[in-house]
Amino acid sequence: MTTQDINNEKSSILLIYTGGTIGMKEDPSVQALRPFDFSQILAEVPELRKFAYRIDSYTFDPLIDSSDVEPSLWVALARLIEERYDSYDGFVILHGTDTMAYSASALSFMIENLTKPVIFTGSQLPIGAPRTDGKENLISSVEIAAAKDSEGQAIVPEVCICFDNVLMRGNRTTKINSDNFRAFRSENYPPLAEAGISIRYNTPYIIRPPRKAGRPVFHTNLDTRVSILKLHPGITPQVVRSILCSPDPRAVIIETYGAGNAPSKEWFISLVEEAAGMGKILLNVTQCIAGSVNMDIYATGKTLKLAGVANGYDSTTESALAKLFHLMGRYDDNEVVRNGLEINLRGEISK
Ligand code: ASP
Repeated sequence: MTTQDINNEKSSILLIYTGGTIGMKEDPSVQALRPFDFSQILAEVPELRKFAYRIDSYTFDPLIDSSDVEPSLWVALARLIEERYDSYDGFVILHGTDTMAYSASALSFMIENLTKPVIFTGSQLPIGAPRTDGKENLISSVEIAAAKDSEGQAIVPEVCICFDNVLMRGNRTTKINSDNFRAFRSENYPPLAEAGISIRYNTPYIIRPPRKAGRPVFHTNLDTRVSILKLHPGITPQVVRSILCSPDPRAVIIETYGAGNAPSKEWFISLVEEAAGMGKILLNVTQCIAGSVNMDIYATGKTLKLAGVANGYDSTTESALAKLFHLMGRYDDNEVVRNGLEINLRGEISK
């Protein structure tokens, strides 16, 4: 990790507020947390004024708990960033933690050739709470979103999550803790930066756009016809059939064991073959939080490969889902989507 020569004096940031715990406070009438407005968030973080940046804000209406996030929010976020792209050096998105890894994954696929930082952050405790983690998270995110090198290029031109002093590639993250401040992990990819006394960037691991990338391409067409089949001991043929062979989903993510293994029982294999025969896109992602699928190690994995199941490598389920939405939204041909799944598009798989 290195500390970079940072030139961010005239940086401008768009802070986008979608909701989440960071901006909530107790509503005594229902004794539950509800979102409050953006000016109150800024009032809680006067430290932001110490930066010499221009910070503008955009608030979504209604503000939501991220358990209510739908792909339509991702489309709205992508369109907003596209519209304001030339006016800002970086974007910080305040978002609930529950589905943040899904949203960050989705935006990473929806924006191709990104040249500016898009940083998701939030908090485990509301920003008004005495021990809040929201202030640190917000301040570090803004500083990273503003950071440019001596040539004026963004230091982290990626969609990321910044949480508990760690900057992670968004499509590598998973929420792993519901109450600890270290809510997110990126088990299969190193941090892109760490915030200590200064912010240390892990430059070799940061993706840079091609030199003549120009403006990014925003892909806002998503096809959401995906189901997830999580394997477990005792799973029945009825359950597997209802997910794999139902007519609705165009694709099914099979969350397998270990290195991509599934039951070797005949009924299971024939249901996978039946789904493949129906033309469905099947993707193998491991239930393990670290490590990769390898369908060549065990006979149980090999059978899936022979049936035409695509390899998810070390993808998170969140990223696999978002990648499918994106590829299916772009291509009508399932074979093209299937091939695209095994290509590393935005650093989401190690390949
Ligand atoms: N339920 C909240 C949300 O995801 C939790 C949080 O923000 O931490 O919006």
